[in-house]
Amino acid sequence: MEFQRAKVLNKLPPYLFVEIDKAKRKARQEGKDLIDLGIGDPQTPTPQHIIEALYEAAKDPANHKYALDAGMPQLRQEIAEWFKKWFNIRLDPDNEILPTIGSKEAIAHLPFAYLNKGDINLVPDPCYPPYRNATILAGGRPYLMPLLAENNFLPDLKKIPAPVLKKSKIIYFNYPNNPTAAVASKAFYKDAVKFARKHKLIVASDLAYSQMCYDGYKAPSMLEIPGAKEVVIEFHSLSKTYNMTGWRIGWACGNKDIISALAKIKSNIDSGIFGAIQIAGISALKTRNSFNDEMNNMYQERRDVLIQGLKKLGWPDVRAPKATFYVWTKIPFGKSSVEVANILLQKAGIVVTPGIGFGCYGEGFIRFALTQKKERIEEALKRLSFL
Ligand SMILES: *Cc1c(COP(=O)(O)O)cnc(C)c1O
Repeated sequence: MEFQRAKVLNKLPPYLFVEIDKAKRKARQEGKDLIDLGIGDPQTPTPQHIIEALYEAAKDPANHKYALDAGMPQLRQEIAEWFKKWFNIRLDPDNEILPTIGSKEAIAHLPFAYLNKGDINLVPDPCYPPYRNATILAGGRPYLMPLLAENNFLPDLKKIPAPVLKKSKIIYFNYPNNPTAAVASKAFYKDAVKFARKHKLIVASDLAYSQMCYDGYKAPSMLEIPGAKEVVIEFHSLSKTYNMTGWRIGWACGNKDIISALAKIKSNIDSGIFGAIQIAGISALKTRNSFNDEMNNMYQERRDVLIQGLKKLGWPDVRAPKATFYVWTKIPFGKSSVEVANILLQKAGIVVTPGIGFGCYGEGFIRFALTQKKERIEEALKRLSFL
C-alpha cells in the first residue's frame, strides 16, 4: 500500500549526495583506504571523566525516570556559571536557559513556535540545513541571504527587501560559521541586533563552535550586545566542544519569552534529556579550559598543515580560518562542487563535502573537516599533488 505523504515533504530540497554516498560505500567495500574529511564529527573520544560521570549517574534509579522538561536545576545553574565566566553575561537559570537534546532539535523546533503559514524566515546561504528545512516544515518560507566571500561570508542586511522584512519572523546567524568557517565581530552583532529590533525579528544565533577558536581569537556571544536580550535566542551545544555528538545535549538561552515558547513546543514533542547525560554534561562544563585548549591546539596544527599544503598546490584564495574545524575553499578547477567531490573520492580516496549541499551559494566551494590525524591530512595532500 502506498500512502500519500504530507505535501510539505516534497518542498524539502533533494538530497544531493546519493552518488557520493554510493561511491563511498563501494570504495569501502573494495577495501580502498579512504581519508574521510567529510562529516563534521570529531574522531577523538569523549574525555574519560565525562564518561565516568555518566556511568555513575546511570546507576542511580532517580535518573531512570522521566527527566524534567526544563532540565535539572543544577545543570541550568552550571550553564549560567559557564556563561558568566566565559562571556561575562548573567543569565537567569530559571527562565533564560533551556537544556535541549542537542542543539539541532531546538533549532528545528523554534519555527514551530512562531510561524504562521506564509511567514518568512531569513536564512543564510550556505548554511547548516535545519534553519532552512525546519522553516519549510513549519509552513514558512525561507528567504535566502547570500554569504559571499567578498563580504567575509556575512549577510548584507541592507539588501533584504522591505516587503520581505515585513513578513519575516526569525533571522538566523551562525558564527563561527559552518560551513564557511567565517567569524562575526561584535560590531557586526551590534548592527544585527539594531536591525532585528527595528524590524521586530527574532534573532536565532547558533554558537555550536564558540569554543573552537585559534590564534587567540575568542568568538563573542550576541548576548554581549546591550539590548540583545530583547530579541536574541542563542543555541549552544556540547557536541563539538567535548566530542559528544552522540550524547545529545545542548541548550538554548536568551530572551525568556522566546525560551518559554520553545519550551512549550518541546513539551508537546519530547521529554527532557536523560538525567545521567545531564549530570555528565555538568561534569563537562566544569572542565572547560584545559581540555578545549588541548583540542584547539590539535585542530590548529591540522589546519596549518592543510592550509599550507593547499597553498603549495596552488589552490586559489586559501584562507586559514580563525575558528571551527572546517576549511572552506574555492575549488581549483572549473567543475561543480559535486563533480570535484566525486573526483577527489574516485581518484584520491579523499572524502570532502561539496558546497552545494549547504545551499546554492555554496556552489564553487568544498568543505574539508579537520577530523583526521595530521598524518592523514599530510597523506591526503600527497594524493592531491598527484591528481
Ligand atoms: C554540529 C552543529 C550543531 C550541533 O548539533 P547538535 O545537535 O548539538 O549535535 C549545530 N549547529 C551547527 C552549525 C553545527 O555544525
